[in-house]
Amino acid sequence: MNAFGAASDGRVRCPLDRSTRVFVAGGRGLAGSAVWRQLAREGFTDVVGPGSEELDLRERRAVLDWFAATRPDVVVLAAARVGGIKANATQPAQFLSDNLRIQVNVLDAAMEHGVERLLFLGSSCIYPKFTEQPIREEALLTGRFEPTNDAYAIAKIAGILQVQAVRRQHGLPWISAMPTNLYGPGDNFHPEYSHVLPSLIRRFHEAKESGAPRVVNWGSGTPRREFLHADDLAGACLHLLEHYDADGPVNVGTGTDLTIRELAELVADAVGYRGSVQWDTKQPDGTPRKLLDVSRLTALGWAPRIGLREGIAQTYAWYVENLESGTLRH
Ligand code: GDP
Repeated sequence: MNAFGAASDGRVRCPLDRSTRVFVAGGRGLAGSAVWRQLAREGFTDVVGPGSEELDLRERRAVLDWFAATRPDVVVLAAARVGGIKANATQPAQFLSDNLRIQVNVLDAAMEHGVERLLFLGSSCIYPKFTEQPIREEALLTGRFEPTNDAYAIAKIAGILQVQAVRRQHGLPWISAMPTNLYGPGDNFHPEYSHVLPSLIRRFHEAKESGAPRVVNWGSGTPRREFLHADDLAGACLHLLEHYDADGPVNVGTGTDLTIRELAELVADAVGYRGSVQWDTKQPDGTPRKLLDVSRLTALGWAPRIGLREGIAQTYAWYVENLESGTLRH
């Protein structure tokens, strides 16, 4: 039994007061901005979260001072250095160091200032490269990582352990969620360093605009991935904050995956690109399959709402609109 009298599977009912002060760390990023929109939709009136130009979460003193001045009651830790397979594989030192510093600073400050509820966002890449699919939360630390994202994975696992340690040592009802590959409005569309879905949107769009007869995507196209719209992740985050209190992380996904080749067909369709598609097998494939077992989340009464075809069409519309208005991040 814990603070909220949770059932053995962590189920609780602990609605958040809509006037409580919520700090969304990483509130300008893909996940954090979706969480922010969700909180506004749900009637939260005191959501805070400075941009990185105002508060660099890697700077410990600045983070502690900011917490002392702002005193949030609830924290959603969605801030991280993130990127696609090439960014992770070529900048492991930054991925390890930045993510460790961001997490330790925010979690320590939250601890020092008695934050009552905290949700830490990890990633599905924390799980072993070769493990039973769909991946259950229990697979954590049972095998070796995919080498293209081991630095990021180790940092995120340290975050999960810090949350568990705080629960154990101080009895605070903090929790962790592990989202699968995310996409949606506000994503990073960098041609080299973004994740596959925004990369494909950009590549197919540019090929359509220039009349290019073919596009070349990375790898073999055979790896399987699962994609969750950021708005669905945000819904899950609030649901977990109000319905879950236990040590173990909770996977957040759709429970369905597809090959990168199938994903490319969906994106080409959404963009209206009619040329041919080739695959550059000199580029890395990464892990062969990454599908989350979402039964823990389903048992807590949550399911995603946005289908992949619909989500890609909406994200493509967002991309075009922001490309034209010059407000894309890359
Ligand atoms: P991962 O899930 O950590 O491997 O991250 P990504 O989203 O970067 O890549 C997923 C898969 O898509 C990998 O198999 C990539 O090789 C493949 N892929 C195909 N084309 C691209 C591309 O243009 N950019 C990225 N990032 N991945 C691509």
